[in-house]
Amino acid sequence: MVIFKGIFHVHSNYSNDAKFSIDDIREKYKDYNFIIITDHLEHLSKEKYKKFIEECKNKSRKNQILIPSVEFYYLKKHIIYIGNKPIDINKVDYIINNKNRDYIIILAHAYKNNLIFKSLKKFPVLDKLDCIEIWNVHHNSKRLLPYRALSLINFIKKQKKDIKFLGGLDLHRVFIKKVIEIYVNCNNLDNQSIINSIKKGRFYLKNDNIIIKSDGDVFYKNIRLNDNILFKSIALILDISSIIKFVLVYNIGSKLLNIFGVGKEYRVGVRDKIDSFFEKL
Ligand SMILES: [Zn+2]
Repeated sequence: MVIFKGIFHVHSNYSNDAKFSIDDIREKYKDYNFIIITDHLEHLSKEKYKKFIEECKNKSRKNQILIPSVEFYYLKKHIIYIGNKPIDINKVDYIINNKNRDYIIILAHAYKNNLIFKSLKKFPVLDKLDCIEIWNVHHNSKRLLPYRALSLINFIKKQKKDIKFLGGLDLHRVFIKKVIEIYVNCNNLDNQSIINSIKKGRFYLKNDNIIIKSDGDVFYKNIRLNDNILFKSIALILDISSIIKFVLVYNIGSKLLNIFGVGKEYRVGVRDKIDSFFEKL
């Protein structure tokens, strides 16, 4: 078995709200063996979806593959499908409920930052998920997974549910430097082998000194942190500060600009500048 390094949850300009072409993404993240590109299913016509899959295939190389996948809205959450066949937006119920699958279903950015918290412990299709994107460096602190994520992990482990934990970027318009890397244990570097290994939990996540095993065990330099009080407190502080940043800058800031008659395009530009600023910190 070989270990391949990759990243998950990157949008290309096949999504209406994203900026970078597949070439830009390949160039920027050329050190990664696989990049899971997750464009919005709602933005893809049949033709565009086909082109997206073809481009990923044509631009995959021996040492780097581009895995096309799609993100769609479901029960007020975002779900990501990674599989070898294109899916139909009208049949996502079946895709989620089908047990006999050679694809993966992931709950995307489990914890976005807003002031309304609804416990994911009661998410109606929790048991149908293969993975949960427990930590997302766009929505959460770049340094530590959110406190809320840690408590969900501990809940799922206690219930002995067979759900794996992924981390991602949700990259749209500003390149992210501090990514969560996925190290997958696998025989071959091809789409289906990576999918199978992720499904079986043969991977771990890494962000600086934090390692998260696929089953949710979180480590800092060999110390297991899932029940560590100090770690939980730091995670809680960072979690709250990222919520404040998000609510102040994005929600309130954007609404204020809107009230003053600033157009959407300009507001997106301002937001990109703020994101770029935070990337430089
Ligand atoms: Zn996304």
